[in-house]
Amino acid sequence: MLTGCTPWPEELQRRYREAGYWEDITLWQMFEQSATKTPDRIALVFEDQRITYRELERQANRLALKFSEIGLKNRDRVVFQLANSPELIYAFYGLTKIGVIPVMALPAHRFTEISHFAGHAGAVGYLIPNQIKDFDYRELAGEITVAVPSVQHIIVAGQANEGQHSLTDWLAEPKVPGDEYRGDQGDPEDVALMLLSGGTTALSKLIPRTHNDFVYNCRQSSVVSSIDAKTVMLTLLPMSHNYNLGSPGILTALASGGCVVIASSINTEHVFSLIEKEQVSLILGAVPLVTKWLTSDIPEQHNLSSIKIIMNGGAKLAPELRQRIQTKFGCVFQESFGMGEGLLNLTRLNDEDEVILHSSGRPMSPGDEIKIVDENGNEVADGEKGELTCRGPYTIQGYYYAPESSANAFSPDGFYHTGDLVCRRNGYLYVEGRIKDLINRGGEKVSIDEVENHILADDRVENVSIVAMPDAQYGEKACAFVKLKAGQKLTREELTSFLLDRGIAKFKLPERLEIVESFPLSPAGKILRRELRRIIEETIKAEQESEQAKQRVSQL
Ligand code: AMP
Repeated sequence: MLTGCTPWPEELQRRYREAGYWEDITLWQMFEQSATKTPDRIALVFEDQRITYRELERQANRLALKFSEIGLKNRDRVVFQLANSPELIYAFYGLTKIGVIPVMALPAHRFTEISHFAGHAGAVGYLIPNQIKDFDYRELAGEITVAVPSVQHIIVAGQANEGQHSLTDWLAEPKVPGDEYRGDQGDPEDVALMLLSGGTTALSKLIPRTHNDFVYNCRQSSVVSSIDAKTVMLTLLPMSHNYNLGSPGILTALASGGCVVIASSINTEHVFSLIEKEQVSLILGAVPLVTKWLTSDIPEQHNLSSIKIIMNGGAKLAPELRQRIQTKFGCVFQESFGMGEGLLNLTRLNDEDEVILHSSGRPMSPGDEIKIVDENGNEVADGEKGELTCRGPYTIQGYYYAPESSANAFSPDGFYHTGDLVCRRNGYLYVEGRIKDLINRGGEKVSIDEVENHILADDRVENVSIVAMPDAQYGEKACAFVKLKAGQKLTREELTSFLLDRGIAKFKLPERLEIVESFPLSPAGKILRRELRRIIEETIKAEQESEQAKQRVSQL
C-alpha cells in the first residue's frame, strides 16, 4: 500500500476477503466488466451527447495511454478538479486504470485549498477545467506550479495555455488501432483515490480509499438502493464528492450497467425537463435542492412518472420534507448518511414510513461494526445519544500522512470517530447533532477552525467565533461573531473581499457578520459557542416575526 496510509490489520483483511466483500479487482476492472457486458448501452447523457459504454471505455483507454505518455505512473498523485462532464469520468477511469491516484477536489476550491492538497499529496499533476464563469483555472494552475514545484503536468479540459496539455485535444485525436496502454495497472489493495475530509481541522485531510474498499462500496450500495441496468441516475452536485461518486453515485450506476444523466445546471426548469426527457428513475438530491423543488410549481408541469427514488445525502432532511417528497413525486424517499471516510447508512426502500421519514438509515453492509460511545469511550444503551464510531470493509483506518489527526479520529482498534451524535433504535441510526466543529451548509462542510484562522489574519479583527445559524434552504449557514480592535470598522462585504483575496472557496464565506463588544465566556475563559448559537437563533427568529408582521400590515 502507498506509504503514508494505514492498511487494515491482517485479521480484518482476511475476514473481508472470506466474506466476499473484497473482490481483488480495481475500479477500472469493475467498470470494464460493465462495458464488456453491455457495450452498446448508454452510459452517460450530457447535453446533446449520448455516450455508450463502448465509447466511454474507448475514451478512458485513450486517456490512460496519454497520461502514461506524459509520464504519469502507478501511485503518482494528481489533484483532480474537473467539473461535472463526461471528461471527468473519462479522466477518472483513465487515471485509475494506470494506478494514478486522483485527489478529488471540487470546482469551488481555490488557491489555498488546492495548494494544500497538492503539497500534502506530493501531487505531480493537476487536472482542471479551462474556465467556469469568470474564473480561469489555467491561471490558478500557473500559481500552483510555482507554489508546489512537484506539480509538473497541468491537464486542461478545454483549451490549454502554453506548457499545459489539453484533455479535449487528446480525446479528439484519431485513434491508432492497437495503440493501447500496456503498463502497470492499479493494485486492488492499493489506494485508488483520495477524498477530502469534511472535517474540523484547519485544512481538509486526505482520505485514501482503496480499490477493494471502493469497489465493495459500489457493489453493496447498488444492492441496497436497487441500482441495476435499468437505473437512470440523475447527478446534480459535484461528482467528485463522495456522495455523488459512490454513496451510491455515478461509479455505482456505471458498475451496474445503468445510465448516468449529468445535469449541466441545477436550474429547476432544466432539472425537471431533463427528468422527463431522460426518464430518470433515481435522483441524487440534497437539502438545498429538495427544499427548492418542494416550493416550486415547475415539477407539476412535467411528466415525472419515471422517478422511483429521490435520495438525500450530505446533511439530514427533515421528516416533514421527506413526507412531502413522497407525496409530491409519488416515489420512495431514501436517506443517505455517509462520509468520505467510508461508512454509508441508508434507509431501505421497503422500510416502514416511520423509518423512512425519521431515521438516517442503517449501515449498508453486514461487515460494518458500529459502536455508539460516550465521552469516555463506553458504549451507550440503545436509544441513548452518543458519538457514532465505526469500522468496516470500506471505512479507512487512518488519514494520509496525518499521524496526529489519525490518532485523534481513530481508536487503537481502528474504529473511526465520526464526530456525529446519534441514537440507535432497532438497528437504525438517528442523527441528533454533532460534536465536531463544522458548519454543514446543505451538505457542503466548512471547517470553523479554518475560516476563523483566516478572519484572525484581518488586522481589524481582535477575535472571532463562528457558529452555525439556521437556514430554511440550506439547513444551516455560517455566522461570524467578531470583536474588532479599538476604533476599527468592518462590514460583511469587506470581510468577504478580505477572505476571497486569501484564495478560499466561496462556500466557506460566513453569510452573516455580527459585531460584538465581548463574547460570552465559560468560567475557564472559553468562548461559549452554545450561547452564540442561541443568540443568533433568537435574533433570526425575531427578524422573521417582525418581517411577517410587516407583511400582514402591508396586506391590510
Ligand atoms: P462528507 O465526508 O463531506 O460526506 O461529510 C460527512 C458528514 O456529513 C457526516 O459525518 C455527517 O456529519 C454529515 N452527513 C452526511 N449525510 C448526512 C445525513 N443524511 N444526515 C445527517 N448528517 C449527514
